[in-house]
Amino acid sequence: MDDAISGAVETRPGLTALLSAIESKPFDVLIVSEQSRLARDTFFTLTLIKRIEEAGVRIHGYLDDSPITLAEETDEVKEFVRAWANSAERKKTGQRSRTIARRVVEAGRRAGGRLYGYADINGTPDPAQAEVVRRIFDERAAGKGLYVIARALERDGIAPVRGRGWYASQLQNIIRNTCYRGVITWGAQRRVKRKGKIVYQASPENVITKDAPQYRLVDDKTWYAANAISDQSAANTWRGKDGRLKSRATNTNGFLLSPFLACPCGSPMHAKQSGKGDKKQWLYTCTRKHLLGKKGCSHPGRGIRVEWMDKSVLKFFEEALVGHTVKAALQEVLDEQKAKAIDPKPLEAEIKKLQGEIKRLTDALASGELEDIHDAVRQRKAKLEHLQGTLSGLGAAKEFSIETFATRLAPVLADWQAHLKKSPAVAAQVLRKLIPTRIVVETKPGGGWTVRGDCDYSAILRECGYDAVTNLVNEIVAKRNRSRARRGARSTP
Ligand SMILES: [Zn+2]
Repeated sequence: MDDAISGAVETRPGLTALLSAIESKPFDVLIVSEQSRLARDTFFTLTLIKRIEEAGVRIHGYLDDSPITLAEETDEVKEFVRAWANSAERKKTGQRSRTIARRVVEAGRRAGGRLYGYADINGTPDPAQAEVVRRIFDERAAGKGLYVIARALERDGIAPVRGRGWYASQLQNIIRNTCYRGVITWGAQRRVKRKGKIVYQASPENVITKDAPQYRLVDDKTWYAANAISDQSAANTWRGKDGRLKSRATNTNGFLLSPFLACPCGSPMHAKQSGKGDKKQWLYTCTRKHLLGKKGCSHPGRGIRVEWMDKSVLKFFEEALVGHTVKAALQEVLDEQKAKAIDPKPLEAEIKKLQGEIKRLTDALASGELEDIHDAVRQRKAKLEHLQGTLSGLGAAKEFSIETFATRLAPVLADWQAHLKKSPAVAAQVLRKLIPTRIVVETKPGGGWTVRGDCDYSAILRECGYDAVTNLVNEIVAKRNRSRARRGARSTP
């Protein structure tokens, strides 16, 4: 069996290999040093012994030269006691090492292995590494991104902590470590066993901090400045409970809507400063007009005040992100689906017609006729796929409970709304999910403007865990493309 892997881990590769090998019974006796070498969890050990024995293999422990068996009733009790004793011993060992680690920390020393930046565990600096640590803190404190810092370290040929390169997560671990400002923090995480694996869990209630000035490599001011940047960047990203990014960062150049607006001429809009002195203001204007003048874009108006536009779009989505709006969108689709489910014949007829058309077109293609046929086939195939999806989704509509859905929807919407208000950077990430294509802003000749655009709620619906009704969600997206959300806006003064 595994030579170097502890009996405490139940997913050892050797164990897996052994268990699958046992099925074909390639040997009669399995020799282990002692029972604890099989596994250290009491019940798992018993199950394991049972499985091996049932496959017709005997187990022999060579340390006490005795068989390990559950054959007799008394054996079962004996092995249980042995397994339990081993497991209890392991827990005690764990507790012992935790007690020792705690004592080490209370004495003002780090518990655990050598840390990057130091030559030993007592805090003697490694001059070259300590210099790198200071550089990382200085650059982060100056506002640099972790990615930028990592690439610069690699460019300068600085050996990474381990592996072949510098990673943002390593840099973040360095920046978050209080040891570099001479304070030891211990017990922020605890080891727990889950599904046979050791995992780490936050345990803020057990944290001990201890001044240990001999470890200091960075002054307090730099340490806190670097951490403030990291806090800020955490506040500007939108992550789920599992820590995964929910939306990619959106470069707004400081203006919430610059990635999302378009002029009716098709050009994107950007923010531009206009006016002088007291009249100075920021406007979203047509980029093509800005570059080419009237030749590029003939639409009237100099632009729309950034603050008005931001405010009204945010307000629109805050209102849109309430249960009844999203529910109503879904209800409409459901009703349509239900109507189709009662009578799927028209849908089936349409599918048949399309299939016939595709066949005829493909035949024509085979005889080497028009190039346009390719497109015609492609279009029909896409439509066919959509109709078939709708047809197979019909059953789902009948069983779909909008009320159950609403209870799942509420917390998701609350989260989206909260993030819309968090910071402009995060709001832009939320909008990125809701606005599939740029919204078109049209200036009206008499002053004022209108906004035309699409709303995509499918990401919200997906987040509610309704993968089973993907077809319905697709239907919403398709519907969105047909009927566009329109709304007017106030007149500019
Ligand atoms: Zn334009």
